[in-house]
Amino acid sequence: MNDTDKFEITDQWILSTRGKKNSVDPHQPYAWLVEKERTISGQVEDIAAILLTNRECPFHCLMCDLWKNTTDISVPTGAIPEQIKLVLSQLPQVKHLKLYNSGSFFDERAIPSKDYERIASLLKGFETVIVESHPGLINDKCLRFRDMLKHDLHIAIGLETSNPVILRKLNKRTTPDDFRNSISFLTRHGIMSRAFILLKPPFMSESEGIYWAERSLEFAFEAGVECCTIIPVRPGNGAMDLLMGKGYFSPPDIRSLEEVTEYGIQLNSGRVFADVWDLSLFSSCKKCLEKRTGRLTEMNLTQKIVPPVRCTCDPSE
Ligand code: SF4
Ligand SMILES: [Zn+2]
Repeated sequence: MNDTDKFEITDQWILSTRGKKNSVDPHQPYAWLVEKERTISGQVEDIAAILLTNRECPFHCLMCDLWKNTTDISVPTGAIPEQIKLVLSQLPQVKHLKLYNSGSFFDERAIPSKDYERIASLLKGFETVIVESHPGLINDKCLRFRDMLKHDLHIAIGLETSNPVILRKLNKRTTPDDFRNSISFLTRHGIMSRAFILLKPPFMSESEGIYWAERSLEFAFEAGVECCTIIPVRPGNGAMDLLMGKGYFSPPDIRSLEEVTEYGIQLNSGRVFADVWDLSLFSSCKKCLEKRTGRLTEMNLTQKIVPPVRCTCDPSE
C-alpha cells in the first residue's frame, strides 16, 4: 500500500467513527491487575498496574481505544489519590507499580498537579513507579513529581513508529525527533524511559510492519530508552475498523510479533516485551495460538530467544 496520501486523517473524522464510551466512575480506577515482569536487575517480579479513570486524552490518535474508559470532563481534585488508595488497600505486596491513565500523567486536565504530593505519599512503599506520557508533555513537571516520589520514576512514551510519514497519519501530533528530544531530556535528568512501539499500524503491509517495528526498536534504544514494548495493532475503536473495511489496515500475524520480539531481544540493547493481551486476534490457527502465546511470554520473562513453534499453519509446512 503506497497511496496513504489519498486518505486524510483528521480529529473530526476519527471522532465521527467512535461508538459509545463505557460507563466509568471517577472515584474508582476502571481496572487493576498484577502481572509478572522481568525487572532491570534480571529478576522476574510482580508488578501491579492501576488503570486510572480520568479525563480523556486531548490527542486523538488513529489507533487508540483508550478513550473508551475515560470521562469527558476532568475528575475532581482528590479523586486520583482516592482511586489509588482504593487499590492499595486490596493489593498484595508488590515492589513495582504502573500508574497508567489512558493518556498522559502530566496532562493537567487529566491528573491535577495539586494531587501530586498526595499521590507521591501513597506510593512511598514502591521501588519503581511507571507512568505514561505523550512526548509533548515531558518537561520540568516530570522532575517535580520525581522529586516528590523520592524513588525510581520511569516514564513510558509512545514512539509508535519511527516512520515519519505513518506517524503523521496516526494523528499523534508528534515526530520521531520530538520523541528523541523527550527521551534525551529524561536521560539528562536521570529518569529512565520505555517506549511503546506499534507492530503494523495502518497503511503498512505485513513485511513493512515488521520492517518498521524493527527500525523503531533501534530508534528507541538509540534515543536512550531502557525498555520497549511491542504492541500489535488491533481493530475495535471505530476508525481502525473502517480502515480495515477499506483495505488500509489488517491486524498483524502473531508470527510477525514473534519475529520482531526475537529481533528486539537479540539487539541486546535493553528489555523487549511483546504485548500478549488477547493474541487470538492475531492468529487464525487454534492449534498453535496457546504455544505461540506461551513462547512470547517466556521470551518476555527470560529475555532469551525460545525455540520456534512448528505447526501445520506455517507457510513452509
Ligand atoms: S496520546 Fe496515547 S492515550 Fe492519547 S490518544 Fe494518543 S495513543 Fe491514545
Ligand atoms: Zn498453527
